[in-house]
Amino acid sequence: MVEKNIEGELAVLLEEGRRFFPPKSFSEKANIKDENIYEEAKNDREGFWAKFANELHWFKKWDRVLEWDPPHAKWFVGGKINVSYNCVDRHIQTGVRNKAAIIWEGEQGDQRTLTYWDLYREVNKFANVLKSLGVEKGDRIAIYMPMIPELPIAMLACARVGAVHTVVFGGFSAESLRDRINDAQAKVLIAADGGYRRGGIIPLKHDADYAIKETPSIKHVVIVERGRFPLRIKEGRDHWWHRLMQEAKPYCEPEPMDAEDMLYTLYTSGTTGKPKGIIHTTGGYLTGVYATTKLVFDLKDDDVYWCTADIGWVTGHSYVVYGPLALGATVVMYEGAPDWPDRDRFWQIVEKYGVTIFYTAPTAIRAFMKWGIEWLKKHNLSSLRLLGTVGEPINPEAWMWYHKYVGQEKCPVVDTWWQTETGMILITPLPGITPLKPGSATKPFPGVDADVLNEKGESVKIGGGYLAITSPWPAMLRGIYGDPERYIEQYWSKWNKGIYFTADGAKRDEEGYFWLLGRVDDVMSVAGHRISTMEVESALVDHPGVAESAVVGIPHEIKGQVIVAFVTIKDNHSPGKEMEDELKEHVVKKIGSIARPERIIFSADLPKTRSGKIMRRLLRDIAEGKVLGDTTTLADPGIVEKLKEKYTEE
Ligand code: ATP
Ligand code: MG
Repeated sequence: MVEKNIEGELAVLLEEGRRFFPPKSFSEKANIKDENIYEEAKNDREGFWAKFANELHWFKKWDRVLEWDPPHAKWFVGGKINVSYNCVDRHIQTGVRNKAAIIWEGEQGDQRTLTYWDLYREVNKFANVLKSLGVEKGDRIAIYMPMIPELPIAMLACARVGAVHTVVFGGFSAESLRDRINDAQAKVLIAADGGYRRGGIIPLKHDADYAIKETPSIKHVVIVERGRFPLRIKEGRDHWWHRLMQEAKPYCEPEPMDAEDMLYTLYTSGTTGKPKGIIHTTGGYLTGVYATTKLVFDLKDDDVYWCTADIGWVTGHSYVVYGPLALGATVVMYEGAPDWPDRDRFWQIVEKYGVTIFYTAPTAIRAFMKWGIEWLKKHNLSSLRLLGTVGEPINPEAWMWYHKYVGQEKCPVVDTWWQTETGMILITPLPGITPLKPGSATKPFPGVDADVLNEKGESVKIGGGYLAITSPWPAMLRGIYGDPERYIEQYWSKWNKGIYFTADGAKRDEEGYFWLLGRVDDVMSVAGHRISTMEVESALVDHPGVAESAVVGIPHEIKGQVIVAFVTIKDNHSPGKEMEDELKEHVVKKIGSIARPERIIFSADLPKTRSGKIMRRLLRDIAEGKVLGDTTTLADPGIVEKLKEKYTEE
């Protein structure tokens, strides 16, 4: 319970006693069976990472594993490597050549399967297309596409010729695309005529036309024909993908890239404010995503792996494209929405392709909870053997639901904490050995040093504070594109230049488990206690009628702040005064009177980023009657308007 209040430390309110051990049948076959891996990595961190780097193909081996001049790191210094070579060429030299690399399903039920050989051919040809358009090593390329196989093909082709890609999520507006293209000074835009979403059409090329009116750096636009959607072609600038591919030569020599050459830039989700253009480089990044995919997802030759993230986000970069393909895995890719044509679409896909590993976000899990289990029951999910989650803290009840209904109590759940900036998973269970606690991302990955610190930078051994990463890791960001000062200021200045500030709160328990508590910007201060949003939200979601909630602190004369909770209830429950009182009592019972919400606002939806994360800062603006902050990354602006009305009415 709440005891101390040292600056920077967070109150610990929620107690979670449930434990889940890996099923014997799982651990016996797991890629990691032995706890010693943590000790080994600790004793020789560089050697640990070098071992994974050695499983990749290098044109020239590195001279030094790490050069650390805080806050600037170089990994595998002097090494020469090509990411596309590792994701395709390596596999066509073995039996993996004929294995499905990508099993793709369109929203309308159409299907395409590309073997590794197919992928090799397409990547090579498209790399030649890029060259024919004058693309050279170091050029930046913007990509604005739906979830179709041409998206990873385009990324891998960029990597092959040494061009730096910037994928802009297909759901972003013309303005967002324009700003990102201008920031990157991209030379070529690769887009599609459109994509399908919830039965409707997203007119990507049409939107792109608006964007490129104001992007002087763009010389060429390549358009994939996804749906014969109407569009205008500007002769000389716009080219059809399929026409260029017809003429392209079948082989393109992969560019030997320096380990520290840029692979891509990507913007953060923009949950807290203006998105940052994060830089990732080549050798360390690939090593990091390769190692984590192998160990965290326990990937085997015969797995059918499905990460539901859009490739427009970092999760899609690292765990749809680069990690799994570097391992020669079979990856499922789905174009559309989880509730189209019905709310069982995901489960239908799991059954159809026999998905064994399923990785999704808490926001999706909470939507499934809201919709009810009847949708799951329509399908045979017995192929699943491992589940994962990423993107937000997962409330223990959502974890339990996921484990019970999707995982049928036999699949370990890996709650993976990481960021666009970290490039790879940093805090996670290893599914064959880590006992799981619902709501905890458990422990730092071997070779990763994480700590919970207070304001002064002192380690909080047991309790809450700021999550910090205290040594460099291979896939770490190398900067913010075009803003080297902000890189230092934002991430490496809170304590000293060797300690990475994650901007997330966390607590550590007696067994050294990490529990993510949400963003430090969202932390509330009630009667002198610093309370995380996560714990109050989890107490609310613990009530059987609640599917999702977001809490914020608003100023109060006496208490400093009081808690306002926005709550989405499950489909078979109804809102009202009775429910409101019940929920307040439930929070008190669960974590104490200090956390009792002052107000509860029922809402069918919460404002979220386009990647599905709750934007508490906008809820705070609503609750304080302020002008709304940056809303460009908001998925549905209608929701905030409705909430605003509702808030002032009540
Ligand atoms: P911005 O930095 O622009 O505000 P963002 O932080 O949402 O956007 P991402 O890099 O996509 O952009 O998200 C990383 C953040 O997501 C983490 O810092 C953390 O807050 C949250 N997160 C991701 N995975 C987890 C997890 N397993 N548990 C708790 N929180 C998580
Ligand atoms: Mg962030």
